[in-house]
Amino acid sequence: MQNTTLILLAAGSATRFGLPTKKQWLYQEDKPLWLWVAESFTQEFDFVKIVIVGASSEIDYMKNFSSKYFFVSGGNSRQESLSNALKEVDSEWVLVNDVARCCIDKDMIERIFKNKEQADVVVPALKAVDTVYLDSNPVNRDAIKLIQTPQLSRSSMLKRALESNYEFTDESSAIQAIGGRVVFVDGSPNAHKLTTPQDISKIPCLKPPSNRSFTGFGIDTHAFEDNKPMYLCGVEIGVDYGFKAHSDGDVAIHALIDALLGAVGLGDIGEHFPDNDNRYKGIDSKELLKSILKMINGVGFEIWHIDMTIVAQKPRLKEYKEIMRESLSNIMNLGKAHINIKATTSEKLGFIGRKEGVTVHCVATVGYFDYRRVV
Ligand code: MG
Repeated sequence: MQNTTLILLAAGSATRFGLPTKKQWLYQEDKPLWLWVAESFTQEFDFVKIVIVGASSEIDYMKNFSSKYFFVSGGNSRQESLSNALKEVDSEWVLVNDVARCCIDKDMIERIFKNKEQADVVVPALKAVDTVYLDSNPVNRDAIKLIQTPQLSRSSMLKRALESNYEFTDESSAIQAIGGRVVFVDGSPNAHKLTTPQDISKIPCLKPPSNRSFTGFGIDTHAFEDNKPMYLCGVEIGVDYGFKAHSDGDVAIHALIDALLGAVGLGDIGEHFPDNDNRYKGIDSKELLKSILKMINGVGFEIWHIDMTIVAQKPRLKEYKEIMRESLSNIMNLGKAHINIKATTSEKLGFIGRKEGVTVHCVATVGYFDYRRVV
């Protein structure tokens, strides 16, 4: 589309969605929903630029998926996110779509573009089919319009409309508030919005994720330190020495976290929890693991299998292996059959053999979160 930028809003916290994975990260075959929607648009239409708005905590991760788009950090509201994106827009028109309206109805979008000349904003709308009441009074349902996205706005008009402090729920109400011309076109039932898991069955274009798996590897080493508790996999080990560390020193959980981050391409533990940050001084590594799991689930993955090897000349860990397995099973909500913990020595070789510290190796296997099991 000549002179039109597409803005795709994918920064929501998805709190109403209520699943571990945010809706914009539900995998469609091998692509997260936001990328799949962006590609659906580009297959059908030609935009001068596509701006994707993501959560500020996820924007760097999103950039790894494609270099074709402009990525912008979202704000605390839809309007703030949209204002951030508009700074990147220099075309005459801007088409704004919520990623939750994930089925692209080509006919509807063509209707929108055909009707732009007399408009400052073109809005798809559905008629009310049910009887409508306002409080306790029935109203003429023919006068009711149920507003959808995408909406096509004159960029300069939309920028001006959003300068006001008033919080608008869509572009048309903002442009109407400054006297702009709103033109309505017929909406589409295909543009149904994904808000709750129950909506999934109402959205015909949604596809299940592929069954691909991904593997990550993690390794960590800590030296011993006297007179402090030792933790491995969140279990206190009955010895009078622990690990030298900024956190509680749970070297096993640290290796596990790096394996998980590796499997989903989210960097390493030091990027997420810097060891010069006082928030993490002495922190219980179980809490670090929980926050990493939340992040990984949020961007569309679930954990399938963990295999860990603890290399220690001391302490003896044989009697703790089962308790450690249970501990991880509880934290990760993953069956014990899929958590394997091995302990070995280094045959008295090297720093481990000299009983100076412990190294843990871990491999994690993950797959895409499959909504079909929960809806
Ligand atoms: Mg460590």
